[in-house]
Amino acid sequence: MKQYDYLIVGSGLFGSVFAYKAKRQGKKCLMIDKRSHWGGNIYCENTAGINVHKYGAHIFHTSDKEIWDFVNTIVPFNRYTNSPIASYKGKLYNLPFNMNTFYAMWGVTTPAEAREKIEMQRKEAGITNPQNLEEQAISLAGKDIYEILIKGYTEKQWGRKCTELPPFIIQRLPVRFTFDNNYFNDAWQGIPVGGYNKLIEGLLEGIEIRCNAGFFENRAYFENIADQIVYTGMIDEFYDYRFGKLEYRTLRFETEILDMENYQGNAVVNYTENEIPYTRIIEHKHFEFGKQPQTVISREYPSEWKESGEPFYPVNDAKNTALYRQYKALADQETRVVFGGRLAEYSYYDMDKIIGKAFLAAQRIDK
Ligand code: UDP
Repeated sequence: MKQYDYLIVGSGLFGSVFAYKAKRQGKKCLMIDKRSHWGGNIYCENTAGINVHKYGAHIFHTSDKEIWDFVNTIVPFNRYTNSPIASYKGKLYNLPFNMNTFYAMWGVTTPAEAREKIEMQRKEAGITNPQNLEEQAISLAGKDIYEILIKGYTEKQWGRKCTELPPFIIQRLPVRFTFDNNYFNDAWQGIPVGGYNKLIEGLLEGIEIRCNAGFFENRAYFENIADQIVYTGMIDEFYDYRFGKLEYRTLRFETEILDMENYQGNAVVNYTENEIPYTRIIEHKHFEFGKQPQTVISREYPSEWKESGEPFYPVNDAKNTALYRQYKALADQETRVVFGGRLAEYSYYDMDKIIGKAFLAAQRIDK
């Protein structure tokens, strides 16, 4: 009989939802996190009265009623709707690709004209069965949209040519023939009222947590403290990189407080040309309709992850996917370790998917 039923490594969304559910099933959990705070990458820092998304903007969206109801029982969500603006050489376009975008791009005013334009460009490119992100993008939205709104942004974001990236990355983005600037197709979206820390605090109420506690710094001790382990860190690190290192993309943020109420009039403005080194500027107050006298903005610079930064995005290309499979085969044989979240599953998951996965993991408790 060990001191805890579960050791949860990492206090992000997967670990926190699992902890919440496990506690309600009478399990005793210890959560550890190597950072000085809880919440993983959804953690916000309050600056000038504004919740700053310290590890990149997070916008919650889902079509799963159970998940939407669940998060709203922890904290109510506001009505924020993501409708980013794309800026290319000084001209602004609406995202996702919709009638407003097509009008700004080509002057077309009806869905039929827009479809015709895209169809023409698709035919010219001769793509029937898209094999990579470039072909997928052109066949979804045509060559102009690809070149102006996708190519530069994607190559900055991933540090790889669009011809070397998998098509699924761009399938996240809707293409619509209506005048609808809502970025997501999901039934529900929003930001927790009062910020994401409220969500994490609600989930972790009554859970024993140790911050500044790195699993690998004291592995033998931590492995012996609990019957089961929920591990949410990098899967390759868990196995001492024995097959080699998985690659990740990281982001560097340049955050500034500005003495003005409203800098860009929108939470998210993407810079899609190659010549500008950042991918987007986030103006944090707009997520919560803030009226503070100052504003906080973050320029986002993507780069290849090196050991010192934070791994944000798995690189799901062929090479890394094959390497991940080798680690996954080891993970599948573990009897007392559950692997969950973006880093442990090496998957580009959205927040709602992570919650769904944590529900499933919690359902398997005692089974
Ligand atoms: N994307 C793009 N242009 C944009 C916004 C997104 O080409 O202005 C593409 C790009 O390939 C990116 C993908 O769509 O990697 C997904 O973007 P999203 O904003 O959903 O990514 P996240 O917010 O997770 O970084």
